[in-house]
Parts: sequence; structure tokens; C-alpha cells
Amino acid sequence: MHTCPHCSQRTVSAWQKVRASSGSPARCFHCHGLSYLPGWVHLITSATFQVIVIASVYVALQVRSWLVLVALAIPLTAGLFWAAALFFPLRPIESTAYRKARRVMIIQVALLVVLGVGAIAYTFLANGGAT
Ligand SMILES: [Zn+2]
Repeated sequence: MHTCPHCSQRTVSAWQKVRASSGSPARCFHCHGLSYLPGWVHLITSATFQVIVIASVYVALQVRSWLVLVALAIPLTAGLFWAAALFFPLRPIESTAYRKARRVMIIQVALLVVLGVGAIAYTFLANGGAT
């Protein structure tokens, strides 16, 4: 368990902590305070995770064994999230800031969906509807 920045009790699980963002914060079950890891922590961990997956797939293809994915990717990914949970402290967030961050996050996801659907539609239409 990790320390809640509001009440200093060890009430936040590692899984809650590594998932906690300003738009989807962790909630302390003792004081109900909200907390999150900064966006740059998520950026570093997700970029490192992608490097781990790509490197593991590359090594698996080189040695022609998919067991490498199990032997490399899973322990490295677990270590990455363990390090993120251990070394970066949670920051408190108030409910008004959380609601604003949540709104921004929803808008960002909606923009990504629109861009994705637009890219697929453009690709489909550029090919004249043929596959
Ligand atoms: Zn608390």
C-alpha cells in the first residue's frame, strides 16, 4: 500500500497508484481524498513499456521463440510499473480540478476517436471502397 497525500495513511494500492491520473485519480478509502501520478510519469512508463514490447518482439523473432515474450516482456513490464509505483509520490487533487481534468480527458479521447474514424474513412474512400 502507498501513502495517501491527504491523510498520510497507507491506503492506496500499487494498482490504483500506477493507474491514477488527474482525469482518473485514486481514491483513499480512509479519507476519500483524490490523488494522482503526474502525466510525465505516465508518459515515461508508457514509452518505456512500448520499448520493452518492441524489443521483446524483436528478440523473440531473432531467436524464433515466443517464450522470450514471457521471459522478457512480462518481468520487465512488472518491474517498470513496480518502479513507477515505488519512486513517484502521489499528488493530491481536489474535486474541482479533477472534474476539469476529467472533461479535458474526455475531449482528448473524443478527438482521438474522431481522428481514428476519419483516418479509416479516408483510407477506405481513397481506395475507392475496394479492399
Ligand atoms: Zn487519505
